Amino acid sequence: MRLVLVGPPGAGKGTQAQYIASNLSIPKISTGDIFRANVSGGTDLGKLAKTYMDRGDLVPDEVTIAMVRDRLSEDDAQDGFLLDGFPRNVAQAEILRDMLKDWGQALDLVLELVVDDDEVVRRLAGRRTCSQCGRIWHVEFDDKKDDKCDACGGALFQRDDDKEETVRHRLEVYQEQTAPLVSYYADEGVLVGVDATGPVEEVTQRAMEAIRPFMG
Ligand SMILES: [Zn+2]
Repeated sequence: MRLVLVGPPGAGKGTQAQYIASNLSIPKISTGDIFRANVSGGTDLGKLAKTYMDRGDLVPDEVTIAMVRDRLSEDDAQDGFLLDGFPRNVAQAEILRDMLKDWGQALDLVLELVVDDDEVVRRLAGRRTCSQCGRIWHVEFDDKKDDKCDACGGALFQRDDDKEETVRHRLEVYQEQTAPLVSYYADEGVLVGVDATGPVEEVTQRAMEAIRPFMG
């Protein structure tokens, strides 16, 4: 099973990627993991990527693509994989398609985690971080009424990333980037949307039900 997982910030994509990959016994391949592995492993691509990151620049597409190509060439990815964080746009999707085609492969499915914006804001903007132990609490889900950490007594604060304005902006950026990608995959006939609201286990279950018809 070769699949790509897409979803907005706050959709629980990282967690779902892990569960789905383990249910399907395929490697979860995230661009974040690939980056870290190349940089810490001191590969040529890692060294190249690091020169950009050290300057505070974005790592160019070609470098990311070369890393993805290397990772997909590894033995454990030959019978399937779950990609998380790649492709990010239609250009990358086309490169991925050609790459797989060269190997006689194709994507089986693109799973889109669907959560509406207000739900994402509710999840992320309710987060409070402990300034001492770093633990994260949620004003609503943990019923936090004071601004003290229940674990260590430290003062809680709201990270800039979790402020409603920032969250809404990240959602806009995501929509701009991802909407064309989602419609590209819809045209290819491989897109399936999964409702990502509710408890983690229920979302995983829904995802597995959506995947089942596509399994060989
Ligand atoms: Zn604390």
